Amino acid sequence: MEFKEEDNFFRQLTGANYRPIMIAGPCSAESEEQVMQTALALREQQVDIFRAGIWKPRSRPNTFEGIGLQGLQWLGRVKRELGMRVSTEVATARHVEEALKQEIDVLWIGARTTVNPFAVQEIADALQGAKVPVMVKNPVNPDLALWIGALERVYNAGITDVAAIHRGFSSYEKSKYRNVPFWQIPIELKSKFRSLPLIVDPSHIAGNRELLLPVAQKALDLGYDGIMLESHPDPANALSDPDQQVTPAGLAAILDKLQVRKTTYDDQELINRAEKLRLQIDEADQQILRALARRMELVEQIGHYKKQNNVQVLQISRWKEIFRSRPEWATELSMNPDFVAELYRLIHTESIRIQTRILNGDS
Ligand code: PEP
Ligand code: MN
Repeated sequence: MEFKEEDNFFRQLTGANYRPIMIAGPCSAESEEQVMQTALALREQQVDIFRAGIWKPRSRPNTFEGIGLQGLQWLGRVKRELGMRVSTEVATARHVEEALKQEIDVLWIGARTTVNPFAVQEIADALQGAKVPVMVKNPVNPDLALWIGALERVYNAGITDVAAIHRGFSSYEKSKYRNVPFWQIPIELKSKFRSLPLIVDPSHIAGNRELLLPVAQKALDLGYDGIMLESHPDPANALSDPDQQVTPAGLAAILDKLQVRKTTYDDQELINRAEKLRLQIDEADQQILRALARRMELVEQIGHYKKQNNVQVLQISRWKEIFRSRPEWATELSMNPDFVAELYRLIHTESIRIQTRILNGDS
């Protein structure tokens, strides 16, 4: 996939002076009045693209599964009467055909669809020859290749205006997020495809209103190109995702607090100062790595000692002692003890690997 910066639809929205793309609207279109009322309020806030789900992929049957075709007419009204770009989710070839017939400006593929290459290919085939920008949400499971694969299927159908939406990943473990962000996955996507526009969806990551701002802010600080937020005139009574939607006024308050920082330093003096700090960081990293190498050497020695004496690798009392003392030392050094505990989990895993190798006589 090769993305052209100049004529990419999403890049034109961020513009030369970088301004994040704003996509907002209700999780679902519920009534004509709700759609028109929300769109009108969001237009005041310079929202670039109005979103609303027409076909909703819900986990359980007998819940609200979207208003269907008539919702497309309402989006058509928003486009014609309010002059906004409109967007909806497509999950089948028929959805694509209907959305294109109504001249919906931007389509997106949802997280439950991205997981299925057959479904994505069917959508891609229906997109052949169309000139419509398409956004691809990450799959529900943390699988970067699957996300890239879906983007490629759409791109190979001739849709060069593609963007990725990061909406977090589901996890069985309890977390403060509805969908855990695993920021390293979208960052890796961005490092592989430098000019692929990347949009954050804090609504589906957070699952609640409190975390929308911090998630959106973090994404902007990581260089994301846009934000998709769900907004409903009466969130508590929304037919889908009531806990995470905000009123248009609530959305305005979030946008007001968001800090859009510069993409890079604009002054030579600042560049020099940052460069000096980076050199010091390089030096500190070399010290860390030398110390780690020394630690691993000692681990090897103790491995040989255990082998000579026929002693097991894992000594639970020692393991406990390490995970008690290191976070404490971290606190004394004004560092986050959780971070240091996690670091030691990695270091300890490597120590065990080295010692197991020695005990089993590989070296
Ligand atoms: C949505 O955007 O309302 C939606 C269904 O999202 P996702 O595919 O991320 O679950
Ligand atoms: Mn939703």
